[in-house]
Amino acid sequence: MARLAEVADLGRTAMLLAWDQEVCMPRGAAAEHGELRATVDRLTHERFVDDRVGELLEAASPRDEIEADVVRAARREYDKARRVPADLVAEITRAAANARAAWLEATEANAFAPFAPFLERNVELSRRLSACFPEAEHPYDPLLDDFEPGMRTADARAALERLRDGLVPLVAGVPPSDDSSLDLPADEPLPEAGQRALVRTALEALGVDDDHWRLDEAAHPFSSGITSGDIRITTRYHEHDLESLFSTLHEFGHGLYEHQIDPALARTPLGHGASAAWHESQSRLWENMVGRSPGFWRWCMPHAQAALPGYFAQLTWQEVQRSVNAVRRTLIRVSADEVTYGLHVIVRFELELALIEGELEVADLPAAWNDRMRSYLGVEVPDDRQGVLQDVHWSEGLFGYFPTYAIGNVIAGQLWARIGDELPDLDERFAAGDFSALREWLGEHVHRHGRRLMPDELLERVVGGPLDPGPYLAYLERKLQASAQLMA
Ligand code: ZN
Repeated sequence: MARLAEVADLGRTAMLLAWDQEVCMPRGAAAEHGELRATVDRLTHERFVDDRVGELLEAASPRDEIEADVVRAARREYDKARRVPADLVAEITRAAANARAAWLEATEANAFAPFAPFLERNVELSRRLSACFPEAEHPYDPLLDDFEPGMRTADARAALERLRDGLVPLVAGVPPSDDSSLDLPADEPLPEAGQRALVRTALEALGVDDDHWRLDEAAHPFSSGITSGDIRITTRYHEHDLESLFSTLHEFGHGLYEHQIDPALARTPLGHGASAAWHESQSRLWENMVGRSPGFWRWCMPHAQAALPGYFAQLTWQEVQRSVNAVRRTLIRVSADEVTYGLHVIVRFELELALIEGELEVADLPAAWNDRMRSYLGVEVPDDRQGVLQDVHWSEGLFGYFPTYAIGNVIAGQLWARIGDELPDLDERFAAGDFSALREWLGEHVHRHGRRLMPDELLERVVGGPLDPGPYLAYLERKLQASAQLMA
């Protein structure tokens, strides 16, 4: 337990360095900071994969249930880490650094071709990584397992095919995207001071206190649970949209998960959220199910009008709520609305799966991307920058991560259906500025467990069944019907 506590502390230290780099490091210090992080990462890895840890895990006789879960989780991670040779790990890191630089240049030049050889290298190294696990049913399984422990490619594929087949007709049925009646006043700026005030008010209502939380600014918003008592979230302020509020709600969801984990799991491998998709289920639940609900806007509207009178004074909460739920077929994932978002993710999942399977050549990737965007979303991709080059993930050698965004939404849909049964008056509570019942429900049923259960066991326990896109699709359909009625 002492050795694992040390490894956990080193991991948290790496997070703290990463937070510092994104939030307050002077720009000129990047190279030296890179060294700090590399050293901490190396020490973390070495302390964990050491022979001695294997002997200790072998000889362990847990004194209670938590220790038994710790040993089980640590053994799983240990076996996985020991199977990958250190020089392959180093090669992957180096190739990713080169590919990321090439991706930045290619994006600037708006041309995929110069990036292609670097991406080919990343794909090849991921396939070699996967080959360290010859017993895997599918070469994508070991990659997916890094983010969704225990999930098989076949399960992810089945769930996301069902999601895709539900979303494509939903999106096709939405009126054309240039419907400007849904737009908020486009030329009225949202002064940053007002946005900051609104974000503060929202966080206070959600239960955030200054003793355990920080809010800062970052170019790409993220959240770090350094410890359960030290939650740091970030947002960004744009003059012409409300992203600051929604990204704050999103990161609050991530932060709350880490904040409500059972303190007994601190300094163990169990002291984090269950998986990437489970984490995303929490952020998307607060961002979308809460932040775009009628109740939230009934509560928020007077605060929004006080903080940003020039923008909100002439609007009703119904107009704002309808606008923040508008569906628009667009090209860019990160600014996509709730309904089309899943299709953006599914395009990436299907393509990276084909790359890893060897069914798709990197050279054919842009055309395959454009085809899918046309058939799923009905949009024409004008150039690679607004197409295949838009996300950083593949340049960093991250394969297996994209599907967790969509699976997170699916889980959020299942949770939301369950929560609706148990707390039927939630929308009224939101309207009164009371978010405590939801916060406590999530703490009790999801958060406190940390990683004690495997992701699929947690889902079974909370919603009584396996991954199922049905409730999420039904939730989106209900919302679309409600806004169609408002329009009529
Ligand atoms: Zn997120």
